[in-house]
Amino acid sequence: PCTEFDKAYFNSYAHVGIHEEMIKDHVRTNTYRDAIFHHQSLIEGKVVVDVGCGTGILSIFCAQAGAKRVYAVDASDIAVQANEVVKANNLSDKVIVLHGRVEIECIKDVEINEEVDVIISEWMGYMLLYESMLGSVITARDRWLKHGGLILPSNATLYMAPVTHPDRYRESIEFWRNVYGIDMSAMLPLAKQCAFEEPSVETISGENVLTWPHVVKHVDCYTITIDELESVTTTYKFRSMMRASLINPRVPVLPTVPSNNSPMDGSQRKKRTNPNEALVLSTAPEDPPTHWQQTLIYFYDPIDVEQDQLIEGSATLTQSKENRRFMNINLRYSSGGRSFVKESVMR
Ligand code: SAH
Repeated sequence: PCTEFDKAYFNSYAHVGIHEEMIKDHVRTNTYRDAIFHHQSLIEGKVVVDVGCGTGILSIFCAQAGAKRVYAVDASDIAVQANEVVKANNLSDKVIVLHGRVEIECIKDVEINEEVDVIISEWMGYMLLYESMLGSVITARDRWLKHGGLILPSNATLYMAPVTHPDRYRESIEFWRNVYGIDMSAMLPLAKQCAFEEPSVETISGENVLTWPHVVKHVDCYTITIDELESVTTTYKFRSMMRASLINPRVPVLPTVPSNNSPMDGSQRKKRTNPNEALVLSTAPEDPPTHWQQTLIYFYDPIDVEQDQLIEGSATLTQSKENRRFMNINLRYSSGGRSFVKESVMR
């Protein structure tokens, strides 16, 4: 349904800043452009729908790649500017901007009266699934995509791994122990609560990561259903690795859900000679940073781990009941004889 929350969500995309941030994320925008031109043979002369076109950038790339027609759909008022951009680039005969939602629940929702060959969308949120926009891509797929059509990206994977981030702990927490010579340790409980209650979006590096990652969820955009996304659960088992410099005693270990990536290879549709050719938009800490950064879930206190120590538990990501664009995160952790649960909400 069409809620107040959706209104707020679409309003947030009416501001220039968010589009500027996405477009200036060159890893993101160049990977999309590369993927579009990589699949030019499947786009030329074809009908495309861009789910959530924003400023229209991906629609225009598709038109440049030779699409016959591109339906550029956005429910946010940014669609007004997208339409102006399309006009100014003399593409009005090819790119049709539709101001409305891809769903069919509100008066303002859009209708496309033909089947489409290609769906392109930049739907990925923080921690891949935050924002719950993937549901809209699924809706578009089920409403309009031709049998055998192409979806870009074709699939996406959310990973998690335990990380250590002692600098952050020092800056936000330890700092209170001595403030201009004053013992402000009394601030520690509040500082921990404020710093670590909610998931934190920040950029870390590969060196912060203590183990190989674990797959939380793999999404195949051709087959995933909306119901599957309501709640995602995984059980994990990590063994801290030989990162001698990081596995010192007293190093805080902060499990996290650090990255996602979305191969842009349309692999389901196309047999390729070399599978390594797949174009991947990676947001992993060891790769160049993107505006998605990594999402960290901090425990309130550091946990010591030794090399080879087993860390196990589970993670559950559930769309919030109050607002399905929010995410409840339940992280269970058990290691070295200690176990606990951290509950948090990403708003
Ligand atoms: N494609 C653009 C913008 C991506 S941001 C780019 O790559 O730069 C996602 C956009 O999707 C936002 O502008 C948002 O308003 C739009 N959007 C999200 N859900 C939608 C829905 N259900 N129907 C229509 N537009 C939607």
